[in-house]
Order: sequence, then structure tokens, then C-alpha cells
Amino acid sequence: MEEVDVIELAKRTEICKVCKNLVVGKGNDKAGILFVGEAPGKNEDEQGLPFVGAAGKNLDKLLAEVGLSLNDIYITNILKCRPPENRAPSMEEIKMHTPWLLKQIREMKPKVVCSLGNYSTKFFLALGNVDLMDKQPGITSLHGKVRIIEIDGLKFKLIPLFHPAAIIYNHALIGDWEKDMEIVKKEIAQKTLF
Ligand code: URA
Repeated sequence: MEEVDVIELAKRTEICKVCKNLVVGKGNDKAGILFVGEAPGKNEDEQGLPFVGAAGKNLDKLLAEVGLSLNDIYITNILKCRPPENRAPSMEEIKMHTPWLLKQIREMKPKVVCSLGNYSTKFFLALGNVDLMDKQPGITSLHGKVRIIEIDGLKFKLIPLFHPAAIIYNHALIGDWEKDMEIVKKEIAQKTLF
């Protein structure tokens, strides 16, 4: 699909008509490592940037602990607009917004994609087939397990991670996150993809 098509497709959803800003992404789009969250929240909607609220502050802190910053990664979301009241994304919204995400991946050619939380992880495990997302296992059984994914001829390593917001509410997840980040660092350090 052409650029204008994927953006226009997302803008056709009701959430894009009522949001304040589109939230496309931030960080280094040449870094070769892409983090994909769920959807912008209130702060992200106001600033037009992903992960600037409480979950984002936690993510910054967790990344800094392993020596990573926005120079090393790019961050975006499954949805590019905030669902009102931060409700969960609908399957229809995911279908209309993810062609834009796939275009970002086509342009960035990341060797590693870290999916943050259930929606993002299930989208990639379903190989972009949104109707198959609810058949995928959840993040609890999958976090930190590296697998090679190919969608539309785009091949990369997927590393599912807990969502940084979940870690705020359930601090017991921090140990798992730290182990998972060691895996992320190892994959980033590898010169070749496979
Ligand atoms: N949570 C997300 O999944 N994405 C954001 O941008 C902010 C919070």
C-alpha cells in the first residue's frame, strides 16, 4: 500500500477523529530495534509522542538500567490514536491501523522487534492476521522467548516483553523483565540477524 493509503486508512477510524494528535513514534529509526506498545494514552495524545506518561517514564528507567536510550531503539504502537478513556483497542481499529505499523517496519527493517504486552505480542504471533490474535497465547507464557517472525516478506526476531505499565502495577514482574532485557541486549549485540 502507498503511504497516503495506510495513513488515510487509520484516520478513517473514529478514534482518529476525536483524538488530539496522531502518535507515530519516537527514537532512532535507524537503530534496527523496534519496541511496539499498544496505544497512546492521555499524555501521549496531548504531546503527540508515545510513552511519555507513567508507563513511558517506567520504560525509560527500565531501559536506562541496561544502558539503553532512545538513541538505541525506536518506539511506536499498534494504534496511532488514543482510544477514549484508554479502553482496549477493537479488532477493527487494529485492522485499520496496523498497515501503517507494517509500513514502518518495511522502512526501518529492524532486526529485533520487542512487543510490549498482550496486544502487540498477539498481533505479531498471528503474523499480522488480526482475526487470529485471540487464538495466540498470552504474554505470561511467552515473554523473553525469541522467535523468528515473517510478515509480508519482512523477517525479524520477535522478543515479547511485559508492558511497562503492567510492571508498575505488579512489581513482582521486575525480575522477569530484567532477565528478558539481557536477552534483548544479546540479540542487539549480534552482528547478523540469523
Ligand atoms: N502505553 C502504550 O502502550 N503506549 C503508549 O504510547 C503509552 C502507554
